[in-house]
Amino acid sequence: MLIETKGLTKRFGGLVAVNDVEIGIEKGKITAIIGPNGAGKSTLFNLISGYHPSSEGSITFKGEDITKKRSFNIAKLGIARTFQTTNLFETATVMDNVIVGHRLRTKSNVFDAVFRTPRLRREEQASRAKAAEVLEFVGLEHEAHRLVQDISQEAKKRVAFALALATDPEIVFLDEPAAGINPDETENLAALIRKMIDRGLTVCLIEHKMQMIMGLADHIVVLNYGKKIAEGTPEEIQTNEEVIEAYLGG
Ligand code: ADP
Ligand code: MG
Repeated sequence: MLIETKGLTKRFGGLVAVNDVEIGIEKGKITAIIGPNGAGKSTLFNLISGYHPSSEGSITFKGEDITKKRSFNIAKLGIARTFQTTNLFETATVMDNVIVGHRLRTKSNVFDAVFRTPRLRREEQASRAKAAEVLEFVGLEHEAHRLVQDISQEAKKRVAFALALATDPEIVFLDEPAAGINPDETENLAALIRKMIDRGLTVCLIEHKMQMIMGLADHIVVLNYGKKIAEGTPEEIQTNEEVIEAYLGG
């Protein structure tokens, strides 16, 4: 397993948002996390990517304990993520959004910036080259110089993917990538996720669009009220009584 959690728990005051969750994410596969609103899916991502400290339990990446690591260091290990609501600079270009995202993770300090050191210039060039590469990968090479506010909702989703990919991750966590786009665009985005797998990446995504998930995921984990209530192949999940009940509010 590339990532494993054991007994993972997150409490917000009296609320147990993630409750004793054990999951394994297999390298080179697409793992989907599903479950009703408030089930703890985004919180699980926040724990794994280091945005929230866990209350209990452990997280390992390639066997290394990363439970106590902060988000910045987790990103450096090769774990990238997108957020449920993408925070892009609407009045900047697509290219500049990706460059800024990449540069936030490189090493130049204020001294380099003020004196325009050779290191800074090298890093700027590297960031620009990396941004061009990932924009081509997500199919946005022709939109690179448009303002984010002028591109489609689907293209914005692709920019978010590009931002995640710019850090050269081994695994990408996508929080509801297909929210707010139409069925055709959803199919395009699914094709892009398959392309990530073909390139050797591992993907873990949260998604509500069942048709997309059932056609895309290798493994599905179902959360309800913070607890894992089922996991298995799409076929197994579709016929699981407890899952059907959770979704029908039974
Ligand atoms: P999902 O992504 O499955 O819809 P979340 O992980 O966002 O669910 O939320 C799970 C529960 O934890 C919800 O009840 C939510 O209100 C609560 N929660 C999430 N983040 C916080 C936070 N930062 N502070 C307090 N409660 C939170
Ligand atoms: Mg969520």
